[in-house]
Amino acid sequence: MSSLLARLLRRFPARSAEPAFDAADFARKAEHLAAMTASFSYDPAKARLVREDFFFELGGVRSKAEGRALPDGSILVFYDPHMTLARLACCVAHEAQHQKYARVRRAFEAEGEDGPLHETFAAFTPELLAERGGVSDYANEHWAAWRAEEPPRLFEDERTRGGAEPINETLAEVAKALYNFGPQTQIDPFWRALYELILREWARLAG
Ligand SMILES: [Zn+2]
Repeated sequence: MSSLLARLLRRFPARSAEPAFDAADFARKAEHLAAMTASFSYDPAKARLVREDFFFELGGVRSKAEGRALPDGSILVFYDPHMTLARLACCVAHEAQHQKYARVRRAFEAEGEDGPLHETFAAFTPELLAERGGVSDYANEHWAAWRAEEPPRLFEDERTRGGAEPINETLAEVAKALYNFGPQTQIDPFWRALYELILREWARLAG
């Protein structure tokens, strides 16, 4: 190949090709993932950056996930070379909140109907939660996708009954907004109060 052609090809690489895997970028993001997970007081050993794609369906729309909170307590972030460190941190804030919610939910399910957690969260009735709706576009998509006749209940298995997780996702979006915009940001005080209570109970259970 002529040296001129070789130079042109270097300057204008084929656009359709997947970008080559950038090990340094991956390592930097894996390190940031661990640091951010720890900053949300969650065990960084439970967070993993993975080179795979995961798709989910919500209200008939298929989307690519940025992260996942697994039932075993681990957090996955799906490596994307275009994801900024700031966006990665928002994703961790969201997924870590899912894990904290799941931990409090287990304790809530394990106690009787007149247990202390039931009393703590008694004010957050399905009707009041549904009336407030979500705190972000993504949370509102979950409220719109809710299929059951009765509104979702705090700590129930929302996905099984209604095909979406409006409460769980709204709380994850509260955590993300508080991280992204700071603690002074305007958030529906009702959701914020619920978020703070869950955080308090999680800290007690995890401590
Ligand atoms: Zn989520």
